[in-house]
Amino acid sequence: AKTRGRGRVAFFDVQLRERLQRFLELEQDLRSAVENGELWLAYQPIVNLHANRVSGVEALLRWTHPVHGTVSPEEFIPMAEESDLIHHIGAWALSTAVEEIARFRTRYDLDLQVKANLSVRQLEDPALPESVDEALRKTGLSAKSLSLEITESALMHDPATATRMLQELRRYGVQLAIDDFGTGYSSLAQLLRLPLDSLKIDRSFIVGIAHSHDAAALVNSIMAMAHAVDLAVIAEGVETAEQLEVLRRSGCDQAQGYYMSRPVPVGDLAEAIERADRR
Ligand code: C2E
Ligand code: CA
Ligand code: CA
Ligand code: CA
Repeated sequence: AKTRGRGRVAFFDVQLRERLQRFLELEQDLRSAVENGELWLAYQPIVNLHANRVSGVEALLRWTHPVHGTVSPEEFIPMAEESDLIHHIGAWALSTAVEEIARFRTRYDLDLQVKANLSVRQLEDPALPESVDEALRKTGLSAKSLSLEITESALMHDPATATRMLQELRRYGVQLAIDDFGTGYSSLAQLLRLPLDSLKIDRSFIVGIAHSHDAAALVNSIMAMAHAVDLAVIAEGVETAEQLEVLRRSGCDQAQGYYMSRPVPVGDLAEAIERADRR
């Protein structure tokens, strides 16, 4: 038993060392990832359920590491947030998304809204509104064609600062969405004070709606609450036809998920939108 115990300790030790090694490597390499052209954006179509067509796309960061392959944003965004790198990466993602989708809209003559994610750290950056405005002016994209997504937990991290930033962004005319709704612990009263246009229901709430009345009822009550204060509702993580049908019937405004389309490189987006349109 003693030997086995020691073996186990050694095993966990190796695992831990490998994880630490990977972390340190990625953290180091992230510094040059933008300059090396290793970051790119995947776009996921979002369907408007009233018009039954794709009306927007969410820009999602991807990192193709030369040795480790595709690294998830869930892994590298927190690393970037630990340093000031998030400002560099965030600004790159925002301006690239606006540029690529502005070009795409012109090329395919489509009225698409681009949705970009903001980190909690970007909310504290006084230069953010100016760089948003600059990206729009450079491309001619109208402000209402850009929606910025901010997670519930980012908004609640420092509600006063977040509120000021949202008000500032709002003056430029960009749309604002609360992301991952339902995963934080914000009070409704706090949320209602924020100048928001839409609310994204977290995937964890969508998963059960086709088979559980309770799950569907919960989503319906979030939706009723959001609509009562004029927020458009977007469901994320829709993976089946049944889930999409439940959402359609219950008056959800927009939906996004693997059932319609996975996030794809911009070169594959036209085809992905066409397929999603048929769902
Ligand atoms: P998020 O903003 O909630 O984005 C939705 C995530 O759900 C994406 O993961 C997307 O690929 C995934 N997803 C979409 N449909 C489905 C589905 O039907 N089933 C399942 N299981 N998953 C689905 P991804 O691309 O790995 O991004 C993870 C998170 O990383 C994002 O969550 C967002 O918080 C963050 N992120 C991505 N890009 C950026 C960025 O440019 N800036 C910042 N600050 N964060 C970003
Ligand atoms: Ca998002
Ligand atoms: Ca989410
Ligand atoms: Ca998320």
